[in-house]
Amino acid sequence: MTVKVILCANPSEVSFLYWIFYLKSGDNFDRLATTTNGAQESKIEGGSQRISLELAKRVPVELNAVVQTLSWESTGVKVRCRDGREFSAKYTILALSPTLWQKIAFEPSLPDPHIQLSQRMPMGSIIKTVTFYERAFWREKGYRVILKPCPFLPALSHHLISL
Ligand SMILES: Cc1cc2nc3c(=O)[nH]c(=O)nc-3n(C[C@H](O)[C@H](O)[C@H](O)COP(=O)(O)OP(=O)(O)OC[C@H]3O[C@@H](n4cnc5c(N)ncnc54)[C@H](O)[C@@H]3O)c2cc1C
Repeated sequence: MTVKVILCANPSEVSFLYWIFYLKSGDNFDRLATTTNGAQESKIEGGSQRISLELAKRVPVELNAVVQTLSWESTGVKVRCRDGREFSAKYTILALSPTLWQKIAFEPSLPDPHIQLSQRMPMGSIIKTVTFYERAFWREKGYRVILKPCPFLPALSHHLISL
């Protein structure tokens, strides 16, 4: 259940090594799942898109530039977009989920271990909503975290109210 709650994936989809790495990165399950002194505690005023918006003021950003082909060699990289735009650079940082690497034609192909990772690391399935209640009724019942079956997402059958 903890894998489902934190990673929004079934345990069979997750490598055990990755799971213990993830727990260690966040100290422990409690810190990852709770609000007070936990991963859900801090929020960015104005929403986390503010990070991108502030970055965009400082560095040039190309919008709607879907990368289709990436040619890479020791001297540099060339990126071609779906709409024909091309960019050259010394390096590229690919900040995508590994499963999305498969959407890009790499020339030459990515190394085999990268291809295997991309094929075996599916994305979790999740919709997140944040709900505020006037009264913390669960605390009155002595609960700190409530896990409940989620009726409309049977594949991932739990959601979390954490406080
Ligand atoms: C429902 C949900 C709730 C979450 N809640 C939290 C939270 O409360 N707190 C928290 O810290 N984290 C949360 N996360 C995790 C957080 O959103 C991710 O860790 C973070 O967004 C990862 O950022 P990223 O830039 O690495 O990747 P992404 O946000 O995935 O960005 C990748 C970008 O690459 C673009 N892209 C994809 N393919 C191409 C292509 N071929 N060419 C060009 N661009 C491409 C995509 O459009 C996307 O904009 C949540 C995630 C989900 C799904």
